[in-house]
Amino acid sequence: MIVAANFKTNKTRAQTRDYMDEVNAYIRAENVKSEIIVFPPSTAFDNYGQGLTQGAQNAYAVENGAFTGEIGVDQLKEFGIKTVLIGHSERRHILGETQKEIAVKFNYFKNLGYQIVYCIGEKLETRELGQSALLAYIATQLVDIDLEYENLVVAYEPVWAIGTGLVPSTDDISQIHADLRAKTSKPLLYGGSVKVSNMVEIVALENVDGVLVGGASLYAQNFCEMIKIAEEV
Ligand code: PEP
Repeated sequence: MIVAANFKTNKTRAQTRDYMDEVNAYIRAENVKSEIIVFPPSTAFDNYGQGLTQGAQNAYAVENGAFTGEIGVDQLKEFGIKTVLIGHSERRHILGETQKEIAVKFNYFKNLGYQIVYCIGEKLETRELGQSALLAYIATQLVDIDLEYENLVVAYEPVWAIGTGLVPSTDDISQIHADLRAKTSKPLLYGGSVKVSNMVEIVALENVDGVLVGGASLYAQNFCEMIKIAEEV
């Protein structure tokens, strides 16, 4: 199982340090076997010791240079970061990243051997058009993406479920994950309003290899409970 936390634009460096220390202590004490990834804001990158994997929520496809407001590989290397989130719906739909730009980023970090957590997911209006429209839309988010890249993790996150408390039915999650499984052998995460109370039934589903969690991951104790659930699957 993979359990990943996306802090988005939350937590300071000091708050992140407390969180990382608590989660790392849990991982060591419980001898956790699942892969635990935390994506803090880049202002909180640091060396957090053994246990969880620190990932970047975003990075520009450069080593360094004149790209105001962006971070590149040099800034990731400083903290040994080798995991990057690409294609998150907030970057696609709020920050306007196109599939073309996302694919450039994907291929850049792929060529460097990074672990890539690649996010896809539809808006509600697409879901309401039915399964074949939904799958056709998802296919547009997979253009120029190598689905057999060895360090790939795919996260299916319906946009309408992110941060809303809404979750697709387990049948719906199963259906889309089965379709994705036909396209890739790599780990498949579900994301979108996952919390302690609904995680058990989600991770029990076939072709769900873990979860990507936003809001409910912000409290270390909550996140540790989620890790516990993943360990029991
Ligand atoms: C996310 O942003 O990746 C996410 C899944 O958020 P939330 O858990 O808050 O829906």
